[in-house]
Amino acid sequence: MNCRDTVPLMSLLIRGGRIVIAADDYVADVLVDDERISLIGAGLDVQADRTIDASGKYVLPGCIDPHTHLDMPFGGTVTVDDFESGQASAAFGGTTCHVDFCIQAQGQTFAEALETWHAKANGKTLIDYGFHIAVTDLRDEERLEELAALPEQGITSYKLFMAYKNVLQVDDETLFRAMEVAASSGALVMVHAENGDAIDVLVREALARGDTAPIFHALTRPPELEGEATNRAVQLARIAGCPLYVVHVTCREAVDPIRRAREQGWRVWGESCTQYFFRSIDDLAQPDFEGAKYVYSPPARDAANHAVLWDAVRTDALSAISTDHCSFLWDGQKTLGKDDFTKIPNGGPGLEDRLKMIHHFGVGEGRITLSRMVDLLATQPAKLFGLYPRKGTVAVGSDADLVIFDPERRETISAASHHSRCDYNMYEGTEVVGAPELVLLRGNVLVEDGELVASPGSGRFVRRARFGETLAAEPATAP
Ligand SMILES: [Zn+2]
Repeated sequence: MNCRDTVPLMSLLIRGGRIVIAADDYVADVLVDDERISLIGAGLDVQADRTIDASGKYVLPGCIDPHTHLDMPFGGTVTVDDFESGQASAAFGGTTCHVDFCIQAQGQTFAEALETWHAKANGKTLIDYGFHIAVTDLRDEERLEELAALPEQGITSYKLFMAYKNVLQVDDETLFRAMEVAASSGALVMVHAENGDAIDVLVREALARGDTAPIFHALTRPPELEGEATNRAVQLARIAGCPLYVVHVTCREAVDPIRRAREQGWRVWGESCTQYFFRSIDDLAQPDFEGAKYVYSPPARDAANHAVLWDAVRTDALSAISTDHCSFLWDGQKTLGKDDFTKIPNGGPGLEDRLKMIHHFGVGEGRITLSRMVDLLATQPAKLFGLYPRKGTVAVGSDADLVIFDPERRETISAASHHSRCDYNMYEGTEVVGAPELVLLRGNVLVEDGELVASPGSGRFVRRARFGETLAAEPATAP
C-alpha cells in the first residue's frame, strides 16, 4: 500500500518545469498548497513537503474531456467502462476532469435521471466530473420548468440528439424549446448534428438491399446530413438566442457553417474528437467484422477530412477536442451486430489516448502549437463548460490539477497496456513520443510512474458555472 493513499499531501513544489498554458509558455516553479496552486515564480525560495524536479518537462493544466459516456446503456447493452475504469483510463492519459452525459429516459424527470447518474459515479470516481443533461422528452410542460432550474444545481449544458430516430432523437420543436429555455437559464445547448430522419430512410433502404456489413453504417450517414443538421442547429440557436456547441464535428460540410457563424460573431462553437483526425471510412471496411471497432456516430469520414479538421482546430473554427469515449467490447458487444450493422453498439474508447495522440501528431508534426493544444484540450473546455478558472489553466488560485509531461517519453499505444476495459484500441500499435509522467488532481498524486496512486471515491462532482460565468475556487477543505 502506498503511503500517499493515506497521508494527504500538504504542499508540493514543482521545480523548473516549462509551464504551458493557452496564453503563455515559460519556465518557472509552481507551489501547491492544500489542493490549489498558491505561488508561481522563478527560483521560489520556499519549503514544501515534497519537491519534484520538472526540468526538461512540461507542466500542463490537467486536461478536461467535455464529452464522455461512462456506464451508459445503448442498444440493449451497457458501455464496458464504468466511472472507475473510465476515469482510471482518463487519469493515465492526463485528463483530470470530464463532463459526462446524464441521459433522460423517455417520460423520466431530470431529477430521476440525475439521481441515476450520480449513483453510477458514487464511490467510484478518481477524477473530478460534471454532468450535461441529455434532453429526450419535453412533452410535459413541467419538464420545461425543471430544465430551466438545472443550472442552479451546476448542470449548465443541455444536450440534444438530432439523430438516433426512435431512441434519443428529438424533433425540431423540442430542440427549439430547449434552446429558448437555455437562452434565459444561462445554459449552453449542445447538439449531436445529423439528420436522423433521412438517415433512417437510408438505413432501411440498405437493409432491404441486404447491405448489412459495418461499412454501411458510414454509407448511410453521409457528411451532407451532418452539414444540414449543423446548419439547422446554428440557425435555430440564432433565433432562440442561446449559445450553441456542436459536438463531434467530422467533416467540411459541418465545419463550414460553424466557421461562417463564428465569422459573423454568433455564439457558436464546435468540437471534434481524436478519432476523426486519424480514422477514416476505410477502417469500417476492414474484413472479418474488424470494421465494427470503428462504428460510431457520426462515422469516420473520407481521409481528406483529416486536413480539414487540423486546419479547423488551428484556426479556431473548432474550439475543442474531446474523445466521445463510449466503449464496447468488440467480442461480445460489437458482435451483436454481426449480421446487421444497425445492431452494432455505436461508440469507441479513447479517453486515455487524446493528449498523447494530439501532442505527437498535432504538436510534434507542426500542425498546432503546444499552447493551442492546451487550449483545445483544457482551457476552452473549461471556459465553455463553466469550469474556468478553477480548472483548465495553471494559475495562482486554480485547482492543482497538473500534468508533468515528458516530451521525450516513448510509448506504444495498445489495448494490452491501456486502462480501459475495452478489448481493442482505435490506435493500436501507434508509437508516440511524449506522455504524462505524473498527474495530480487537486495537488494529490493520481498517477505516478505508470501506477494509479489515488483510490476510488477521490474524484468530486463539480457544480459548473452558467455559460460565460467564471467558477471560483471551492472554499479550502479542512485537513
Ligand atoms: Zn457522444
